[in-house]
Amino acid sequence: MIAEATVSDGRPVTLRRAEPADAPALVEVIHAAFGARPAIGAPPDALKETTATVTQALLGGLGYLTEVDGRPAGVILVHSDGAAVRLGRVSVHPDFQRLGVARFMVSALLEVMAARGVALVTLLARKDFPHLRAFWESHGFSVVGDEGNAWVLARPLPVVAEVPDADAMRALGRRLAGLVHAGDLIVASGDLGAGKTTLTQGLGEGLGVEGPVISPTFVLAREHRSLVGGPALVHADAYRLGGFAELEDLDLEESLADSVTLVEWGAGVAERLTTDHLAVDIVRGLDPDDETRWVFLTGVGARWLRHDLADAVADLEDA
Ligand code: ADP
Ligand code: MG
Repeated sequence: MIAEATVSDGRPVTLRRAEPADAPALVEVIHAAFGARPAIGAPPDALKETTATVTQALLGGLGYLTEVDGRPAGVILVHSDGAAVRLGRVSVHPDFQRLGVARFMVSALLEVMAARGVALVTLLARKDFPHLRAFWESHGFSVVGDEGNAWVLARPLPVVAEVPDADAMRALGRRLAGLVHAGDLIVASGDLGAGKTTLTQGLGEGLGVEGPVISPTFVLAREHRSLVGGPALVHADAYRLGGFAELEDLDLEESLADSVTLVEWGAGVAERLTTDHLAVDIVRGLDPDDETRWVFLTGVGARWLRHDLADAVADLEDA
């Protein structure tokens, strides 16, 4: 079992990996759930699922079964798509609806996917059912595409890097330099001394810009020109800024398109420069003698869908 809780009527609810032997139970939930939807247009393909097709899906991907009081209540199939996964047949049996089963199931599943190193979760939501889109948006998904009768929804999951020392932090910065393009925005957060500027130094090295990259404390933003004909690095510090109006005064928008922009302390404000951005969150452990930092990377928006962040954070100790 992966997760357990209680639903709103007090009964226990669990999430576990579905085995091929669970296929009949999965089919029953899928048929009951999709069969109970109001009929709009053609009947959903979900009604064509059989034990054989679901077994096939479980062998080629992953499936999760939610049980209430030991009875099959919810299903999610997970299809692998590189560093991303696509969810399918997300369904709650009508006997168990309005108990919070879907909310439990989706939250638990997203945690499982993050722990497996999945960077992005996508799914299709039929436009006929606007409340479904609202449900997914409440779980951090946003519309990233349009496939005729369905919205493409996506939610990035944080990728975590263990960064043992300052050299490894610079190595991570150099790796990120290999991913970014002119127009990209990185928003770095973390306490004073977390390593935001150290990461930016690595980013600057990787981009081949004129140094030195230092804390832009008195000058609030500094532009480092490329020495290799690439984009400049614009390094800003929002620590002393009162909010978006003051950030706007730095004219970062002006240089955004031709540069890679990194804003320290920018969480909550800098995203307004452009919705698509890479959020970098640096966290220290509790032991003050331990130099290890945990870096959470979350790519937000369609611009980041193409990046394989998991690759960027692998094996930093040896970098
Ligand atoms: P910030 O910009 O977040 O305030 P800095 O990068 O300026 O932080 O400072 C981080 C300090 O911590 C540097 O002196 C760096 O050498 C040190 N350090 C020790 N371990 C690490 C680590 N794992 N990652 C980043 N910096 C580290
Ligand atoms: Mg700093």
